[in-house]
Amino acid sequence: MEKAELKIEYEVYKESCPEEYKELCHAAFEMTRNAYCKYSEFAVGAAVLLNNGEIVCGSNQENAAFPSGICAERTALFYACSTFPEVGVKAMAVAARNKGVPLEEFITPCGACRQVISEVIKRYRSDFDVILIGRKTTISVKASQLLPFAFDM
Ligand SMILES: [Zn+2]
Repeated sequence: MEKAELKIEYEVYKESCPEEYKELCHAAFEMTRNAYCKYSEFAVGAAVLLNNGEIVCGSNQENAAFPSGICAERTALFYACSTFPEVGVKAMAVAARNKGVPLEEFITPCGACRQVISEVIKRYRSDFDVILIGRKTTISVKASQLLPFAFDM
């Protein structure tokens, strides 16, 4: 038996976003206003920067039948990949508000969204930056770092 170890690296930004992704971060934050989150009051916005420079966005959409709702990240990625199936993703930014208040610390995608992110990497054979936004701390992490041992067929 051997022991193995996983290590992830990411960039940390205090009270700012990576300069090259300012517009993307702004789009993600603004998209929190479009969330339909009457049950949790936890509004999430995601913005996807495509390789053609286009930015497409999504927000969480809740439903009284809880599993029928969908996260902001998957809303944005599915929209991006269905509208621009040949283009591919360069980056994604995610922001959130809890009961209307922007989060101090960054939010991370749920497991289901990480699995979808993993499939997007595989589909376009290209890793991309994920910017996770908080008022105090924002991080930039490679999408491939978010889900080690992702399910694959
Ligand atoms: Zn999710």
